[in-house]
Amino acid sequence: MSEINIGVLSIQGDVAENVASTEAALKELGINGKVTQVKTPEQISKLDGLIIPGGESTVIGHLSLVNGSLKKIKEKIESGMPVFGICAGLILLSKKVKDRVVGETDQPLLDLLDVKVERNSFGRQRDSFEAEVSLEPVNISKFNGVFIRAPSITEVGNDVEVISKFNEKIVAVKQGNILATAFHPELTSDISLHKYFVKILQQSLKDQ
Ligand code: GLN
Repeated sequence: MSEINIGVLSIQGDVAENVASTEAALKELGINGKVTQVKTPEQISKLDGLIIPGGESTVIGHLSLVNGSLKKIKEKIESGMPVFGICAGLILLSKKVKDRVVGETDQPLLDLLDVKVERNSFGRQRDSFEAEVSLEPVNISKFNGVFIRAPSITEVGNDVEVISKFNEKIVAVKQGNILATAFHPELTSDISLHKYFVKILQQSLKDQ
């Protein structure tokens, strides 16, 4: 198979950490691929898969709306490109978002993942924490979840598979080619979730 082209949206947020985790995942799986930082519609149009990192969802949303990337990302995901949204990335992928403190946020969204997200669901920055989570449906029994001003999912549509909960709150989901977590796997040395995403990507290319 030819080289897999994975992009990390590099508008704002945890970009370098996701590049490193994805490169490590490719290496460990022995898959021929490259990981690039992307921000323009032209760069995004060439991708086989995309990671939308954690950061500030309003900033990532507004800037990618202005430069045309949001529209291109949406088109690519709708045509089957696998995407992994982390924290702010999860928020951006969602159909509905509300902030626990300020309510409706009226921020640009990709409007693809059929969930309702609550921003700042576990509190504000000072309430950030680490906790062990389990993602049994994808065969990851233990994962160190790093939650930074994390959202949670309060409602899911019929096509959404819940893959992890923490304290009764939904913190990881999968819907077709969309994978999303409220916590930050790129901030740990555990690359099992990045490996899982790379495997989804490899499968989607085989199915084409
Ligand atoms: N609370 C942030 C937001 O709404 C997300 C935090 C994160 O990505 N760590 O964008």
